[in-house]
Amino acid sequence: MKFGGSSVGDGNKIRHVAGLLKEYYEKGNQIVAVTSALGGLTDMLMENAHLATTKGKVSLVKEFKTELTTKHHEAVKNAIDDPKIAEGVLQILDLRIDELEKALIGICYLGELTPRSVDYISSYGERLAAPILSGAIRSLGIGSTEYTGGEAGIITTNDYGNARPLEKTYETVEKRLGLRLDSEIQVVTGFIGENEDGIITTLGRSGSDFSASIIGAGIKADEIWLWKEVNGIMTTDPRIVPEARTIPQISYSEAMELSYFGANVLHPKTIEPAMREHIPVRVKNTFDPAFPGTLVVADKVRCRHVVKAVSLIKNVALINITGADMAGTVGTVARVFTVLASSGINIIMISQSSSESNLSFVVSESQANDALKVLRAEFERYVVREITSDREVCVVAVVGAGMAGTPGVAKRVFGSLGDAMINIIMISQGSSEYNISLVVKEAEAISAVETLHKEFELHKNNGNYGTGNDIDL
Ligand code: ASP
Ligand code: MG
Repeated sequence: MKFGGSSVGDGNKIRHVAGLLKEYYEKGNQIVAVTSALGGLTDMLMENAHLATTKGKVSLVKEFKTELTTKHHEAVKNAIDDPKIAEGVLQILDLRIDELEKALIGICYLGELTPRSVDYISSYGERLAAPILSGAIRSLGIGSTEYTGGEAGIITTNDYGNARPLEKTYETVEKRLGLRLDSEIQVVTGFIGENEDGIITTLGRSGSDFSASIIGAGIKADEIWLWKEVNGIMTTDPRIVPEARTIPQISYSEAMELSYFGANVLHPKTIEPAMREHIPVRVKNTFDPAFPGTLVVADKVRCRHVVKAVSLIKNVALINITGADMAGTVGTVARVFTVLASSGINIIMISQSSSESNLSFVVSESQANDALKVLRAEFERYVVREITSDREVCVVAVVGAGMAGTPGVAKRVFGSLGDAMINIIMISQGSSEYNISLVVKEAEAISAVETLHKEFELHKNNGNYGTGNDIDL
């Protein structure tokens, strides 16, 4: 069971989480708990690491230290009743905060922040949360020990900020955590692992989901539960369409498409480890535990609705490359992608017209300037005539495994948008057919999502709880 940052946002919430764990444990489940940092903490840590390099002021580090100490001491006070346990936890926290202070002061003097130090600094969010949760569990009379991701056996590549588990991780996790599953609730820090030299790495923002899935696959769990502050995976963002509903059941591939396409529910790599061991993943609401949430499973259930969700990615930019000489010039696309990749620019969506004289792709808005710069430098005026960008756009993605092999879905997508007078700037459909993605003007994005949500009747019960009408694909 993994608990996200809002679920462990303060001491009272941590107490509630410890209570949930106790309840499930006493029902006879063996549980490993994975915790995020207290909500907002990772952002604060990163901000302060950057402040230390740019401003280099030790006084700011001291201020931050006081803020962190107050916040976590307060959490201990509200989460843990047993004074002896609270005392022990406070000691651990103070030691860790001292270490962090030293590291930040070091950065002030060096004026340099490497990706490795960013990972080290940002790991403290989870490393301060885990002792509190573990203490709160012990305070309820259940044995508990806390581990960092590395101690739990998550051994990763050296890609700081975006590390991936090495193959041996699964075996190591099993060895380290497997023996004590019966006797206690082991609490592991989400988000972080370590490389083969024992240096802390992180798995990318929102990486605690990924940690939970890796650990679940390692110990061969029956289920992986991700506790969040929302009612599971929704048909779309309820802030855009209030009629949005929880999707009761979704397949691994649909969940992956959704997390790639900005639904912001899961870290995009979460599903992979679960999938290798065929472990169902459940997304539940910490503050409404009785609600079933969303179950992510291997079976593709074709429900009455071929489309399961519509998602919106904001803050993107469209880049167009045009030039008649591109047609038939072998290697242009390769050059485009190579220069973008070597500048660390991620491509969200691609399309090329068959005339080959036009290549369009979408990148995140924050990378648009860099993309233009490196592309212009690479091509100057040769082959490519013009490189332009449009920042006033959004990507809208329609997702559902039932779309594969079902004729007429595209007609409904484009027909309904056409009726709503929404202009489509770019289209892409992967050959998995699980997803149709469109670029529209930012000003029309919300009404595009509303239109599609309505067209596919996603506000209605989509009957995919396994009623007799389902067809297994
Ligand atoms: N604390 C990390 C973050 O905010 C990881 C997580 O919450 O899953 O990105
Ligand atoms: Mg978080």
